Amino acid sequence: MSDPFSREFVYPTEARRIVFGPGTLKHLRREVELLGASRALVLSTPEQSADARRVENLLGENAAGVFAEAVMHVPIETARAARAAADQRKADCIVAIGGGSTTGLAKAIALESTLPIIAIPTTYAGSEVTPIYGLTQGGMKRTGKDPRVLPRTVIYDPELTLGLPALLTTTSAINAIAHAAEGLYAKDSNPVINLFAAEGIRAFAAALPVLRRDPRNLDARSEALYGAWLCGTVLGTVGMSLHHKLCHTLGGSFNLPHAEVHTVILPHAMAYNASAAPLAMTQIARALGARSASEGLYELARTQGAPYALRDIGMQEADLDRAAELAASNPYWNPRPVERSAIRVLLQHAYEGIRPAAVEEAA
Ligand code: NAD
Repeated sequence: MSDPFSREFVYPTEARRIVFGPGTLKHLRREVELLGASRALVLSTPEQSADARRVENLLGENAAGVFAEAVMHVPIETARAARAAADQRKADCIVAIGGGSTTGLAKAIALESTLPIIAIPTTYAGSEVTPIYGLTQGGMKRTGKDPRVLPRTVIYDPELTLGLPALLTTTSAINAIAHAAEGLYAKDSNPVINLFAAEGIRAFAAALPVLRRDPRNLDARSEALYGAWLCGTVLGTVGMSLHHKLCHTLGGSFNLPHAEVHTVILPHAMAYNASAAPLAMTQIARALGARSASEGLYELARTQGAPYALRDIGMQEADLDRAAELAASNPYWNPRPVERSAIRVLLQHAYEGIRPAAVEEAA
């Protein structure tokens, strides 16, 4: 939304329950019962199976077992196995503890069974507050939107994020900030979502430097998880643009790691859109406490020790032409027209990790 005095908008909101605060995992059983459920299948990745077992113990007789096989991008085979496990164990709800990959698996079950989901996020990806799902078949990821996959309850317990590794803390946070940044110039944005977006970016900008020094600081973990809720809600409510199209292309077609791609691309996508969305850029820069949106995001990644060049996260220079072609075909709506040659320049800068302010000045 470019005009601050425009007061014509739609604010779509879904009834859902957010339970937030250190130690709130202890309310899980109550939350299952509030859904009218009594047999919860617990999902996690193999790496977080100990968390899943802890949740199973907490649920006691309300647990219907653990399925700890979630992996990135929800392969259809894993989704089928998880659906079969839910059927066999007569589950009447799903509890997903983990990041976007685990929440994504819960969504794949809900899509076909309509079982309600309780999400317990342990990263900042934000999937727990969106009706967006993804499924990968034959190497192709298909995404869609369906209200049935939106978790009914989210338990945000920052204590569960104390051990989030440093790299994932930063990249997952910048992945979340990307949702808010693009939300601020979304053509279907609204004033309430703009407040969520600016506050979400501010919360991360405040929390990340503290977490770099002191990863187990519970107040900073709480602030970051609060930011994740706000930014995820933006993603779940309004449309995304160039940045997300680029990340889906690079992640989907070149198999680059999800949160790291977001971290590298975001400053460059902001530089590309800077002249077309000046109000959003001012809001982002202010929330970051930076001179400009693109520079603030680039510096955030660098000072936090995160990657800032595509070549450092597995991209091949020879693939940049095809990436530009793919990203410019069927583009999402974007405040600045998406031109293949300009996107190719953007990708070259991102590949080399060049400071994006230089791109803005050269443009
Ligand atoms: P992830 O869920 O893939 O997790 C990465 C790894 O970190 C996993 O091994 C996981 O077990 C581990 N992990 C998670 N939390 C941890 C913690 N607190 N401590 C230690 N280890 C932990 O990563 P992600 O970035 O959260 O999710 C990425 C996936 O989510 C992608 O497939 C992406 O497309 C999807 N996503 C979907 C949406 C949506 O709205 N549908 C939104 C954002 C991301």
